[in-house]
Amino acid sequence: MSRRKLIAGNWKMNGRKADGLALIEQLLKLRGEGEAPFDLLVCPPATLIDRIGQRLNGSPIWIGGQDCHQAESGAFTGEISARMLKDMGAAYVILGHSERRQLYHETDALVRAKAETALAAGLHAIVCVGESESQRLSGAALQVVGAQLLGSLPEQFTPENLTIAYEPVWAIGTGRTPTTAEVREVHQHLRGQLTKRAGKAADRMRILYGGSVKPSNAGELMTLPDVDGGLIGGASLKADEFWAIALASTQVSA
Ligand code: PGA
Repeated sequence: MSRRKLIAGNWKMNGRKADGLALIEQLLKLRGEGEAPFDLLVCPPATLIDRIGQRLNGSPIWIGGQDCHQAESGAFTGEISARMLKDMGAAYVILGHSERRQLYHETDALVRAKAETALAAGLHAIVCVGESESQRLSGAALQVVGAQLLGSLPEQFTPENLTIAYEPVWAIGTGRTPTTAEVREVHQHLRGQLTKRAGKAADRMRILYGGSVKPSNAGELMTLPDVDGGLIGGASLKADEFWAIALASTQVSA
């Protein structure tokens, strides 16, 4: 089963308008208009989605949010709804990133509620799972990510509305990555769990790897069986690095 790779950039809380627009212009230039064997997605801070969404409208680069609230609307000061993201041109939303889980105490149940709302709003959800370093060292990685996955999956998920991202917490922003054997093992496990829930459709679902992906390691990580692209943090803030990762994911030379 060949799945089209997705290379997603998570800008996190970085970039003002001028930075974001400059980054997008560089990326659009690198990407060009022709066919590419992968999908490109950028997830800027919420403040830039409207402006960048307008610029990307009609282009081959998708735009998404980094989080949304679980309610459709209401008295939730400071929050952003899935419908608002959609309204600004977002097609995707990242949910349950480990920074949200750790710093804002998001549980599997909350991530699942957010995913339900995102799907209802017509967004494609990227649900993140990943073990901590102590969980990995104690041999619990598979059990932890499996439980996170099953607890966070929305009811009506399909390959068209949901992508999974495996991001070991200890690999995010640290320059450290799991071995290719470890990545393969986790991705196989996640696909097995998805198959139990969704049957054959799980073969078409994308499972991304994230955590310290850079041009120098993208070739070996992104081309592993069962790895269908990457969720890229730091390196997505540099157009040439993000693009090099995309090329390496399908072994296309620059
Ligand atoms: P990183 O972040 O690429 O900077 O490690 C990945 C992520 O948090 O999605």
